[in-house]
Amino acid sequence: MTTLDIQKFVRKNIQELKPYISFRDNNQFIKPLMMDANESPFGEFNRYPDSTHKNLRDKISAFKNIAANQIALGNGSDELIDLIIKIFCEPKKDSVLVMNPSFAMYGFYASINENKVLPLNLNEKFEIVKEDFLNSSKENQTKLLFICSPNNPTGNSISDIEFYIKNFQGIVVVDEAYIEFSEQKSCLELINEYPNLIVLQTFSKAWGLAGARVGIAYSSVEITNLIYTVKSPFNVNILSQNLVLEKLDQIEDFQNNLNEILKERDWLKNQLLSVKCISKIYPTDANFFLIEFENAEKVYSTLVENEILTSKRFPQIPNCIRINVGNRNENEILINTLKNI
Ligand SMILES: *Cc1c(COP(=O)(O)O)cnc(C)c1O
Repeated sequence: MTTLDIQKFVRKNIQELKPYISFRDNNQFIKPLMMDANESPFGEFNRYPDSTHKNLRDKISAFKNIAANQIALGNGSDELIDLIIKIFCEPKKDSVLVMNPSFAMYGFYASINENKVLPLNLNEKFEIVKEDFLNSSKENQTKLLFICSPNNPTGNSISDIEFYIKNFQGIVVVDEAYIEFSEQKSCLELINEYPNLIVLQTFSKAWGLAGARVGIAYSSVEITNLIYTVKSPFNVNILSQNLVLEKLDQIEDFQNNLNEILKERDWLKNQLLSVKCISKIYPTDANFFLIEFENAEKVYSTLVENEILTSKRFPQIPNCIRINVGNRNENEILINTLKNI
């Protein structure tokens, strides 16, 4: 697929859409009087944030060794998922292909945009069945394929992702929200090889900044420009842009926290092995475990009674609960509670 082909997947109204251009963000001044945006002259946060995210994209560009014009920032990767669907999927006409079970937001935003959601049911190893993929991707109204790897809620990485990128006649979004916890390779280096590939990453998980709402989409220059055309101009606020800039200067803290979570993941796994009500602990490449219980309903409600919140909202895997790795104190309380069930 060439970059030219990408345009044919873009909705016509989006192809014709003029981006909102902030004059001040797209020109250079030394010390301008800013009387253009009806802001207050008082206060610390009186100015609108940089709509082009220039400093932050440059910083991420240097950190990841990816050109800044191939980096798009969103108000969380959730916003980017929403925007990607809006760019490529004609309401009431196009559909999206999603793994089942996987992250709920793909289907959520597709439904809001009135796009059909076609499930690719995962096999018993939680892998995509290639034959099912080849059959369902033939339909040319299927514009997007979402691959979540490591997958939420199953925890495993998806094998042979390049096969799906190569064989899908549309845009492939690889959601790498948990990639930092995994030993598998990121798909990031494939973006210059495949113009139909978008890789999503986020500051919400391993970076510990879920409250700041900053997600990243890496892709071709064409797709990046499309995201900047459709996004709401001031989508990432000043506080969050500055905070992430700061955190990118404290890589050691990030690395220490990540190592600590990985260590706790091992500890928790070991402890879980001696919990009687558990029937299976699925392998994980993420910061959570998918666990099968003999009586998940009872375990879940007992945990809630003890004010321990876990996630049990996957009808496809009825006896399973997803539990994320906490700090040692939290993990100990969890284990003690589980052992008493
Ligand atoms: C948590 C998560 C995200 C992150 O979303 P943000 O909007 O960046 O917080 C994205 N994808 C998956 C699969 C997730 O589990």
